[in-house]
Amino acid sequence: MFASVIIDQDVKALNKVFEYLVPDGIDVQVGARVCVPFGQRTLQGFVIALKENCDYDAAKIKKIYGVMDDFALIKGELIKLMGFMCDEFHLRQTSVLRLLVPSEIREGKVKELFEKYAVLGDYDLQSLSRAKKQQQIIQKLQTEQRMLISDIKQQFGESAVKALIDKNFIVVEKQKINRTPLWLGRDDKAVTLNAQQLNAIETIQGNKTFLLHGVTGSGKTEVYMHLISRALENGKSAIMLVPEISLTPQVVSLFRARFGEKIALLHSSLSAGERFDEWRRIFSGEAQVVVGARSAIFAPCENVGIIIIDEEHEQSYISEANPRYNSQEVAAFRARFNGCPLVLGSATPSIDDYQRAMDGEIQLVEMPVRANGRPLPKIQIIDMMNELRAGNSGIFSTQLLCDLAKVINQKKQAMIFINRRGYSSFMMCRECGYVAKCNDCDVSLVYHREDNRLKCHYCGKQYKVLDVCPNCGSARIKQGAVGTEKIVSELKNLFPDVKILRMDNDTTSKKNAHQKLLQEFASTKPAILVGTQMIAKGHDFEDVTLVGIIDADQSLYRADYRSAERCFQLITQVSGRAGRSVSEGKVDLQTYSPRHYVYKFAANYDYKSFFKKEANIRKTAAFPPFSKIIRILFCHSDENVVKDELKSCYNKLLKVREKHFDDIIYMDAMKSPIKRIKNLYRYQVIIRMRLENSRAIENEIYDCTLDALKSSVFFEVNPENMS
Ligand code: ADP
Ligand code: ZN
Ligand code: ZN
Repeated sequence: MFASVIIDQDVKALNKVFEYLVPDGIDVQVGARVCVPFGQRTLQGFVIALKENCDYDAAKIKKIYGVMDDFALIKGELIKLMGFMCDEFHLRQTSVLRLLVPSEIREGKVKELFEKYAVLGDYDLQSLSRAKKQQQIIQKLQTEQRMLISDIKQQFGESAVKALIDKNFIVVEKQKINRTPLWLGRDDKAVTLNAQQLNAIETIQGNKTFLLHGVTGSGKTEVYMHLISRALENGKSAIMLVPEISLTPQVVSLFRARFGEKIALLHSSLSAGERFDEWRRIFSGEAQVVVGARSAIFAPCENVGIIIIDEEHEQSYISEANPRYNSQEVAAFRARFNGCPLVLGSATPSIDDYQRAMDGEIQLVEMPVRANGRPLPKIQIIDMMNELRAGNSGIFSTQLLCDLAKVINQKKQAMIFINRRGYSSFMMCRECGYVAKCNDCDVSLVYHREDNRLKCHYCGKQYKVLDVCPNCGSARIKQGAVGTEKIVSELKNLFPDVKILRMDNDTTSKKNAHQKLLQEFASTKPAILVGTQMIAKGHDFEDVTLVGIIDADQSLYRADYRSAERCFQLITQVSGRAGRSVSEGKVDLQTYSPRHYVYKFAANYDYKSFFKKEANIRKTAAFPPFSKIIRILFCHSDENVVKDELKSCYNKLLKVREKHFDDIIYMDAMKSPIKRIKNLYRYQVIIRMRLENSRAIENEIYDCTLDALKSSVFFEVNPENMS
């Protein structure tokens, strides 16, 4: 028997399948972790296939040393998924391996955790030492039966315990402990499903993909939970993906209350021990419901009965770091493999997916009204040009200030949304136009007043603030567009007695800081929460009656064909935070382009008209989903290396274009919009092509990149981020 093995090292040179002989007497399964000779070394690898014959000279082939675990770490379905991902996303097997088996498991650094308990052993009371502490311990154990060793040590000292163990008065019992992520106790409140929820649950069956389009507050979560219950009743498991940011203890606890110990949680802020234990619980089948962020789609569960992706339009489901993949496509693969439904839920579906529903590729299920019957908050568009004309050049419109004052009077809460953290976006010299930039990245620095520093939002580097312009010496330094910090400081001046909280990457970097902030907000009235995207998702605060959107245009005017879509999604999400309970909600949307179609449709919650308009624009201009965009990004610390490799790739691409002249609409090589990040130069080729034949052409294009061995090369289809 021969085994095809991939070596557990993520380097280009080892991106091959190596063949080994399986010696008699060693029982190897596909997916098993094995120890193999490699050159002079012994390395860890994974068996991805077994076969009777081998193409190589059987006499020369090396033998597997041994199998490292009692069971195969990668299950059959995930081995197949590995093959799919390598083809679909042009990835290395060794990179995919890192997604399928987390490092905590692979590297063997994390172990199972045991607690040690003391129970009384076989002892002869006569021989008990007269030592007082030892006697006390025995007495205590006689009443308690079983105690934590660590507790006894703490109370009576280590030496006494040790002496008793040595003489067998105490026997130590080990008990495995699961390190479980934090959650809040919460009661499961039973609700009677309404007609639109019942309809959704009835419809979502079989092995299709469903787009669940439900307005914010329509009760999608309850639908998800019923679908999961149904899978469990049929003896199957379930996977639900949620954006990392909405994995709040509130949401997690809701699921805990319903599914108890059957839930496992996978997301990036688990400790290594927690991730290890949760993964093992899923692997063994002890936990059948996996809730988590993007990477939870690789959970090693078997017999999956339902896969749900909540907020399916979210960018975070696409991995933009190596390995780059789209979790929705991974989910679709797993749903096909298991013959189960895949549910994509959103109040603002991506244009791509809604178009697929219109084309009949996936099935649309609609939930058009809020579960509690409350109306969606009224969105008022505020023309900031008018404010300027009326002499108000501040951040806040008169209307917003007026509404804030009302909220405060009524002891309610408000949220102020701004798409930028920090104090101001950049520092610029008024005399010569100099803008402070990061040394390692080609981006402007952002002023953070709290620590009085300039920070690079791409690499985290910090700089001293500018007193004078390094270019011309002028002291006339101007701050650019405002960020969260600046808003907070202005609000504190305007409303000195009101609690004003800030939530962004800077205030939530510590573990659990996010949830502490939310708890503080929840318990304070009146209060204003200022934040970035982070406040837009999933929070359910009953007393938020006002949402202010400062400078909505910021997400609209970006050099990205999806900016209108993103802007519509943001407004809808943020607005969904207001008036969720008995008090009616309102949204003040400040803009300099009040007549833009995005605002018009967003203010009426008219997704369908927005979709129609947007799809039309993209069709006319031949942008996705009516075409495919490929970006090939080259990065290297030496600019000449990137340029050379880009050029030779481009020359090959020219031939591909010649061959497919009718299908390739656009192709160009250029510096990336951000031409350096973390000291790596970035150059890219952008290609846009028609959909017919695009899969075959994509592969030809990919082949052109394979000779670029020095640069890091990233190959992306319809990239979310072109910077
Ligand atoms: P969505 O995820 O669609 O934005 P949620 O699932 O958060 O909406 O539901 C919004 C609110 O409606 C929640 O407080 C939820 O408990 C409540 N809810 C859901 N279903 C029902 C129902 N059938 N009857 C009454 N309230 C419901
Ligand atoms: Zn200057
Ligand atoms: Zn930087």
